[in-house]
Amino acid sequence: MKPTRRGVLFVISAPSGGGKSTLLNLLKPTRDFVYSISCTTRPPRPGEENGREYYFVSPEEFEHRVQVGDFLEHARVHNHRYGTLRETVMQNLDAGDDVLIDVDVQGAAAIRHNAGGEIQQSLVDVFLMPASLQELRRRLLKRGTENSEQLELRLRNAVAEMAEWPSYRYVVLSGEPDEDLVNFRAIMTAERMRSHRLKFSGE
Ligand code: 5GP
Repeated sequence: MKPTRRGVLFVISAPSGGGKSTLLNLLKPTRDFVYSISCTTRPPRPGEENGREYYFVSPEEFEHRVQVGDFLEHARVHNHRYGTLRETVMQNLDAGDDVLIDVDVQGAAAIRHNAGGEIQQSLVDVFLMPASLQELRRRLLKRGTENSEQLELRLRNAVAEMAEWPSYRYVVLSGEPDEDLVNFRAIMTAERMRSHRLKFSGE
């Protein structure tokens, strides 16, 4: 008996420097989900490529996409705009493929409150909780991609973001990268087996 099911929409949020990029990099080589690439007005960091980490767009193009309804959700985060492309998410879920999106707490809230019932059915939201603010600061300093003003802004925002953990279905306490991977994979495995998602042929 091979069931069919609608795709699961995995949403992951974590404050900047919270171990999320490391986790995503560990998850991505196993291609059992589609990673939805967001649009952003933030300039690329060294090593980032258009169409890999993000679609890097101008503020004008971003606004145009907002106006024509291209985004499932969009938000301003750390003074830049970020948006999830609706078509990528919906087409893949409809085709039965799982989708992973990385959004901030505003984006997760917008998706949770999205009127379409099909999104609620598919949604699995996960908050990756950093070990401590000191650890966040250490990781951001080590990454070295932000100037001190941006770093302080990201740390201030982290405090507010961390207060949002009770809104998520799952909270993974971030530890070593391998532990985070095992924990996140456990959530994926279990959620894919939820009975309400499955349809057996002939039903
Ligand atoms: P970064 O600039 O470090 O890549 O990302 C900054 C923040 O923007 C992170 O918290 C990340 O989750 C969030 N983010 C990335 N893409 C999106 C998106 O499409 N929508 C929203 N709401 N947030 C996003």
